[in-house]
Amino acid sequence: MAASARASITPLTRKLAASPAALCPARGFCGGRRGLGATPGVADAATKHYDAVVVGLGAFGSAALYHLAKSGLKVLGIERHSPVGHGLGSSHGASRIIRMAYFEGLQYGPLLKRSLQLFLDLQEEVAARGSQQGAGGQHEQLFTRTGMLDVGSVFERSLESARVHHLQHEVLTGAELNKRFPAYRVPEHWQALLQPDGGVLAPERIVQAHVRLAQVLGADVAVGEAVTHWQVEGDGSPGAGVTLRLAPAGGGGGGAERQVAAAAVVMTPGPWIGQLVPELADLCVPERQVVGWFQIEPSARPHFSPERFPVFVIEESPGGAAYYGFPEHGDLPGFKIGLYRHLREQLRGPGAVDGVRRSADAADEAALRAGAAAYFPAAGSGALLHASACYFTNTPDGHFLVDRHPRHPQVILCSACSGHGFKMSSGIGQLMARMVLDGPPGGSSSRSSSSSSSSSSSSSSSSSSSSISSSGAAAGGAGGSWAELLPFRFDPEGRPGHREALARFLR
Ligand SMILES: Cc1cc2nc3c(=O)[nH]c(=O)nc-3n(C[C@H](O)[C@H](O)[C@H](O)COP(=O)(O)OP(=O)(O)OC[C@H]3O[C@@H](n4cnc5c(N)ncnc54)[C@H](O)[C@@H]3O)c2cc1C
Repeated sequence: MAASARASITPLTRKLAASPAALCPARGFCGGRRGLGATPGVADAATKHYDAVVVGLGAFGSAALYHLAKSGLKVLGIERHSPVGHGLGSSHGASRIIRMAYFEGLQYGPLLKRSLQLFLDLQEEVAARGSQQGAGGQHEQLFTRTGMLDVGSVFERSLESARVHHLQHEVLTGAELNKRFPAYRVPEHWQALLQPDGGVLAPERIVQAHVRLAQVLGADVAVGEAVTHWQVEGDGSPGAGVTLRLAPAGGGGGGAERQVAAAAVVMTPGPWIGQLVPELADLCVPERQVVGWFQIEPSARPHFSPERFPVFVIEESPGGAAYYGFPEHGDLPGFKIGLYRHLREQLRGPGAVDGVRRSADAADEAALRAGAAAYFPAAGSGALLHASACYFTNTPDGHFLVDRHPRHPQVILCSACSGHGFKMSSGIGQLMARMVLDGPPGGSSSRSSSSSSSSSSSSSSSSSSSSISSSGAAAGGAGGSWAELLPFRFDPEGRPGHREALARFLR
């Protein structure tokens, strides 16, 4: 996919760059909820300037903020909900699966390895800081290794991924799996891939750790304030600065509206991306998800402990129902299970995301219980102890979108969810920081401005506007290149819905 993507995007982005109408009006806002807020304006003396601003501190924004701060840039992270690591977005709760063999696509392999390593590094850093601060060496667990089972029709694709990426793995029949892990009861003739490098990530703790460490490294963080508008200054060229309007939001930001400016913006508002970048509203579509915790028969609880229960994906048939689940873990008792894409309730139109129904009803419970009853007999008839609703943000092909804004390459857009993004948030955060440091093609690097904190707007007047470039792919060197993100860029020829989305950027 990557090779054809690179070739195919060129004509459209050239067209974008060549069209004066494609550029933002000099002082017109390019995103946000039009009509809200006060009169638009460009950065003035009262405006605080940054090298980079990160909009939305969920999984991806928090990771990007941390890596930007670590690079020595002057950065601001903005989060409208309080506290950081809240339960109202997509990165809530205590558990997300991480696994290395990836049936979703071979292109994820390097990013997965990088991300796991970064999570392990983060855990060490948190531990080290904890002991430095006299916490007796105790630290919050960010990753619990349980192993991972890919069962049923995902088996073949997972096996291919394990082989291509030289991952440790074992192949089990359903009968062998049931014997080895007694909480499970899958059809005996099915096949399963067991990978040791799988387990449970703690999302809220990870988001909080990234933000806390970014602050230690000097990042500013604005919690309880929402970005309502943003605009590229001057002629809108790749080197122009970006101004963002902030308004107090629920959670106590207090104060009045204010404005900040930055040389680069990382846009990571999760399911709200369509509000800040309306051109993406039909490409990145939020969907309501529910996960549930079922009571386990008391005598079987040891079988559901993290030591004896690998996390899993069980897909019944290609494209059919796919369940995922966790051992009993964290503060909430019970066996946690989800049905991938749940009831497919899309949240389109104004107010749909914020108006999501957060309580679970009988249809939600029935969908989850079907999986528990089919494959986990000791939990399938237990009471539903707890349920929680949140969002996937799906692209039509289920792959991520991480790229530069087609008209404003100093703005990086990230919609990396489609229900499976958390495990790669550390790697994508680091790579987006790399994109900021490299600067837009034809613009100047943000790194150059890091030493001067008073103004970070660069003055390049290059008019080229493009998505991730092949030269950018080569930049960065070991551990820093963002070539791993190339499969996730805009691709009007190869990815459904991208042509239409790119056309919307042209209007
Ligand atoms: C039920 C469920 C199960 C999942 N399971 C897995 C799994 O097992 N493994 C896995 O890898 N992935 C999983 N995922 C996917 C993963 O959780 C998401 O990919 C990831 O959390 C998305 O993070 P995000 O940063 O894009 O969005 P969010 O976490 O929603 O963060 C966006 C943030 O932006 C803020 N924001 C929005 N608008 C503004 C604004 N205007 N101004 C300021 N701030 C703003 C929001 O308040 C929010 O905090 C799951 C997702 C769900 C919902």
